[in-house]
Amino acid sequence: MNTITLPDGRSIPVLGQGTWRLGERGADRAAEARVLRLGLDLGLTLVDTAEMYAEGGAEEVVAEAIAGRRQEVFLVSKAYPQNASRARLPQACERSLKRLGTDRIDLYLLHWRGGVPLAETVEAMRRLVEQGKIGAWGVSNLDVPDLEELGPALSECATDQVLYNLEARGVEFDLLPYAARLKMPVMAYSPVGQGGDLLGHPALKKVARRQGISPAQVALAWTLRQPGVISIPKAASEAHLRENADVWKVVLTPEDLSELDGAFPPPRRKQPLEML
Ligand code: NDP
Repeated sequence: MNTITLPDGRSIPVLGQGTWRLGERGADRAAEARVLRLGLDLGLTLVDTAEMYAEGGAEEVVAEAIAGRRQEVFLVSKAYPQNASRARLPQACERSLKRLGTDRIDLYLLHWRGGVPLAETVEAMRRLVEQGKIGAWGVSNLDVPDLEELGPALSECATDQVLYNLEARGVEFDLLPYAARLKMPVMAYSPVGQGGDLLGHPALKKVARRQGISPAQVALAWTLRQPGVISIPKAASEAHLRENADVWKVVLTPEDLSELDGAFPPPRRKQPLEML
């Protein structure tokens, strides 16, 4: 598996596992945890979750999946914006740690920007790093001006997790080059467009046929075609997971990329940051 280096020098895999919509139904939890564990076996050791997902349910599924294997996993979770204050962030973090069955979250993100001043969130995040509750902190759904507002603290910000797939390329205009200059990895969420219309697009299907892979694998390989991007597809199905785990080996050709550009044109001007 290819890896990427975080600002603090740690190496993490470029391909991880998302967990949104896991843990929503009790009856599915054991199967979901089994697929996540298979993902760990296949090298997808970065696991992305959030207190929001199934209101803590996804974190509980992750706990089941990583039990006895904590050392193998790079664990990412996120706090609600309303919990990102000096007083509430430590409590939210404690609740997540408890649900995750661990004493440390490797990377803790502000899920999106809310009413709490960024400087206050940074202060609270720093405190959690000092206490060893989290390994590093980062953000999600922040556009370039928000990142600039972080000022000198930007050098500690380990990532910005943003919507990025063939149908949502706006970040290529400014955010991706900005992060590259800072040597800050970006995490691409919803990289296969949530398994929707994107995967049926004729251009994607054509490239997939030529490469002998699936449209989802094309979509994922496309997000990973450039350095500095980590992709975190979610798969509750074992077949999907197995496809996704192989993607880091795929090399898209200039012909593939130019056909995809034709069907999904890159941005020519600044676009407001899209988010789900
Ligand atoms: P994805 O683009 O990862 O799509 C997930 C959907 O695609 C599921 O329905 C899944 O099906 C299906 N799928 C996965 N792999 C394949 C495949 N190989 N072939 C066909 N279908 C496939 O969307 P998400 O929105 O889940 O994004 C990924 C992760 O990013 C989230 O789970 C979450 O961790 C994070 N995220 C973060 C956000 C933020 O605001 N920071 C917002 C949104 C997501 P099935 O499950 O049945 O296998």
